[in-house]
Amino acid sequence: MAGTEPVPSSTAEETGKRRCACIFAHPQDDVERARVQAALDNALVTNDAHAVFVACMQLLPPCPTTSVAVAQ
Ligand SMILES: [Zn+2]
Repeated sequence: MAGTEPVPSSTAEETGKRRCACIFAHPQDDVERARVQAALDNALVTNDAHAVFVACMQLLPPCPTTSVAVAQ
C-alpha cells in the first residue's frame, strides 16, 4: 500500500518550508519571527540575559535555510 505510507521530511523541503537545522532554530515564517521577537522583548524587560542571547541568535543570520550566502 504505497499510497498510505507516511511521507518523510522531503515533502517539507519540496514545498520550500524547510525546517532550520541550526543549534538556535531560526524562525521560518512571520508567525515564528513574531514569537521570537516577543520572547526577546520579554527577555529584555525581565533582564534575562540568557533568553536575550538565545532570541538574538534565533533572529540573526546566517541560516542555511534562509540565506544562500553562507560560507562553504
Ligand atoms: Zn537556521
